[in-house]
Amino acid sequence: MRPAANNLITSLEREYEEQRRWCLLAKCSQMKLFDRLVENEFLPPEIHEQRQLKNFQAILQYSRNHVPYYQANNSLRCQVAVLGDLAQLPILSKYEVIEHFEKLQYDHSSKARGPVIIFSSSGTTGRPVKVAHTNQSMEMFSIFWQRQARWFRQDPMALAARIRLPESLPPRKDGSLLTEGQTYTRKRWSHIGMYFQTGPEIGCTLGNSRDWQIRWLQKHQPKYLQSFPGFFEELALANECKKIADSIECLIGVASLLTDSMRNLIERVFEAPVNQNYGMNEVGIVAARCLSGRYHIHSEHCLVEIVDMEGLPVQPGDVGRIIVSTFNNLRMPLLRYDTGDMAVAAKGPCPCGRTLPSIGEIAGRYRRFAHLPEGTRPRYHAIFGAIEAMPDKLLKNLRQYQVHQYRDGRFELRIRTAGALPGEFQQTIVNAWLNTVDEHEKELLNIKEVDKIEGAPGGKILEFSSDFFPDEDSDIIHPDFEHS
Ligand SMILES: [Zn+2]
Repeated sequence: MRPAANNLITSLEREYEEQRRWCLLAKCSQMKLFDRLVENEFLPPEIHEQRQLKNFQAILQYSRNHVPYYQANNSLRCQVAVLGDLAQLPILSKYEVIEHFEKLQYDHSSKARGPVIIFSSSGTTGRPVKVAHTNQSMEMFSIFWQRQARWFRQDPMALAARIRLPESLPPRKDGSLLTEGQTYTRKRWSHIGMYFQTGPEIGCTLGNSRDWQIRWLQKHQPKYLQSFPGFFEELALANECKKIADSIECLIGVASLLTDSMRNLIERVFEAPVNQNYGMNEVGIVAARCLSGRYHIHSEHCLVEIVDMEGLPVQPGDVGRIIVSTFNNLRMPLLRYDTGDMAVAAKGPCPCGRTLPSIGEIAGRYRRFAHLPEGTRPRYHAIFGAIEAMPDKLLKNLRQYQVHQYRDGRFELRIRTAGALPGEFQQTIVNAWLNTVDEHEKELLNIKEVDKIEGAPGGKILEFSSDFFPDEDSDIIHPDFEHS
């Protein structure tokens, strides 16, 4: 269901009206932040620019003063008087974040104190990228989750459903993870329920069969469904492209993107729009997609540049690397962090009416399991999950990896190393595999050392490739953005 054209356009008044549907909890009733966020969405672009510059200058100064990695980096000494000066600063690669995890942290600031939460993301570069967050940087997640819910026109008091991996869902009372066949129920929505009165939330795991999930949705009749966009496609196909539940008014896709053809199919079958955001564990939510198809940056939280190979801004309409600088993580600020994703640079006003900085279509982070045999997802997660959870000492020599699925059911983990890996590396992956597959499939995983990992036709390295991917499908497969 495509939105009517007049719904595409919004205004300050319209957003205030929408925000008034949301009631702050009594303990938060004095918070003005959410009204300020509405206001910010319609400020003149030059004010956004000034604020972004000021925020960047502040975090740059802070980093130079307090964060050992930046203190030692002479190239960070230059003046940033206008946003154009950012191009003089070095880009921070995933590899550098991995290597300098300790030095990138400032652990003496009163603002940076408090519990430290480490988030880790896998990637094709070898070891997982870990970033230390504080409560403050984590709270941003809930705050921007509410902003996007308002943009998506969600009714705060409705029933929301989540079908996710067990580790992204609330644990059971005894601390164990939700298993297949189980449903969790909460009085309030996750994240947003920290601040606002909301309706209830239910959830179940992705591991249930598609038929079970379809019956589950039909039984509970939620208004909203949150999952991986690729999973919506799987559900649509599993239900033979028939509408699944009349109650569903909006789908919220997390962690990955959609191709246009996937979006068309899902919206046609569900008769509901797929709303999306863009983010990563290292940063939190970076942007939310408006109905005009642009991703608007949460500029109170981060600054996004779209740059070429030399780190210089690309022309509007051109594709470039997404570089993010974070403002709210005083424990481990990231300055000009290379996300590994690509996007189209956008300029000028967005047709939706919001003036927050925006970027166009994002390339990367597609996940597509619809053409793959059922059971692919748990096998994929067994291998990637095992690598992600490994202690650094096992990963020290790992430089790059890729998993390939063969048509006959074999999986191959290809690894490129800079020296021998401990035997425990292989054993951990094999154990995770054995815990996931049936008896007769135990021999189907092969771990192979290679000198080179092949890229896709576009040159981008796929971390997961499969003989079952259709030919026209050169989607980039990335890990999930798990942030619950
Ligand atoms: Zn827009």
